[in-house]
Amino acid sequence: MKIMKFGGTSVGKPERMHQVKDLIIQDDSPKIVVLSALAGTTNALVQIGEALSHADKKGAKLIIDELQSHYESFYLELLGTDAGRAKALSIIQEHFEFLNIILKINFNEAINRDILAQGELLSTKLFCTLLDELFIDAVFLPAIDFMSIDENQEPELLKIEERLKAILSDYPHQKLFITQGFVCKNHRKEIDNLKRGGSDYTASLIGAAFNAEVIEIWTDIDGMHNNDPRIVDQTKPIAQLSFDEAAELAYFGAKILHPASIWPAQMYNVPVKLLNTMQPEALGTTITAEEQGQGVKAIAAKDGITAIKIKSSRMLLAYGFLRKVFEIFEKFKTPIDMITTSEVALSVTIDDETHLAELIAELEHFGVVEVDQNQSIICIVGNMVAESKGTLKDIMDAMIEYPIRMVSYGGSRHNVSLLVNTSIKNDALRTLNKSLFTFN
Ligand code: ADP
Ligand code: ASP
Ligand code: MG
Repeated sequence: MKIMKFGGTSVGKPERMHQVKDLIIQDDSPKIVVLSALAGTTNALVQIGEALSHADKKGAKLIIDELQSHYESFYLELLGTDAGRAKALSIIQEHFEFLNIILKINFNEAINRDILAQGELLSTKLFCTLLDELFIDAVFLPAIDFMSIDENQEPELLKIEERLKAILSDYPHQKLFITQGFVCKNHRKEIDNLKRGGSDYTASLIGAAFNAEVIEIWTDIDGMHNNDPRIVDQTKPIAQLSFDEAAELAYFGAKILHPASIWPAQMYNVPVKLLNTMQPEALGTTITAEEQGQGVKAIAAKDGITAIKIKSSRMLLAYGFLRKVFEIFEKFKTPIDMITTSEVALSVTIDDETHLAELIAELEHFGVVEVDQNQSIICIVGNMVAESKGTLKDIMDAMIEYPIRMVSYGGSRHNVSLLVNTSIKNDALRTLNKSLFTFN
């Protein structure tokens, strides 16, 4: 089994959807195709939810109408037959009728998640209509029939595997399955999602469930680049990454991959390939267990970080202090990213401020608490980065003009993390790029 996931840009134009169709029928190996929503759709759905959460029905209606007219020109270009077009129009009408009904009822978070699911439902249904029109045999798999998360929003991999295998056993002769990325069911059996960019996670979870031959993530760039191409010029694709390296980059801001999308593939040792739909012949990036090369391979950055410092003389020579502090973060289900310690102080970073006030109130029992918001983690990744001679010096030399709030070095063999104020992040990324990568 092969998993092929296509992102928003890859399905965002009718001609691109045709390209996707060509790519999935290139060989007749069994495959599950995971599609995102058309580019821009999920953003629009988020805006609809936001407008409704402020009781702005007029604003929501405007976005719904604009989105509907986008789909109404999209399907005309996508499909060539009257039957295909009639089918597509009825799909579009059904989903926009749903959005219009939502305008009339009381808005809540469960409804918001229903709204967010419409994008992937539309893209997969329209794509299946295209396959149908071209007499390409495929099965439409509703993601909510198998993709589930528990009360901690963690995917239930074993249940996903069980359900998927049961569903597919009903189609012993079928080779092509189409499903929605991002969409899932939660423990209350409501429609939920795997967070923004979650279609990658869907693909990886399905790949793990089937112990697939490969998980292909088809997107709009030729693989993982050595720095954020949205910020830094002259970035280059990386041919090979280990699971650990890719996971660090994804978690610390490389938008090409959902932050959690590597662990399922890693757990089942399924290779992940990052490929470009617009340039299918490009090599892309292959992610496997193998650790190749030496030195710095890539840099990524994650914004929206808050640093919390707890200064306490009680930490001096005490044991059990860290446990007590970490228990507070556990109590408020707030993950910690970076940690640095001195004998009398501890600094940690979080990216979820939901319970910041409660965290501070409880941490103040231990000592003086200082909070710095608007921080970014710059994550420098490579094989043996922490041990290769001079790497830290090169990084620090490059950063000489920039104030650094925290440094994390030696936590793993492939990562050095720096915490800086977000206002200097872009400049720091560019300077690091110049210093750490030599271009010929
Ligand atoms: P998709 O819609 O296919 O999921 P995304 O927009 O989520 O695509 O991810 C691809 C984008 O990620 C690229 O267009 C690029 O701008 C951005 N990106 C950020 N960091 C990196 C990186 N290190 N390597 C490649 N792409 C990156
Ligand atoms: N459509 C969702 C999003 O835009 C999921 C994805 O594209 O991966 O976040
Ligand atoms: Mg994405």
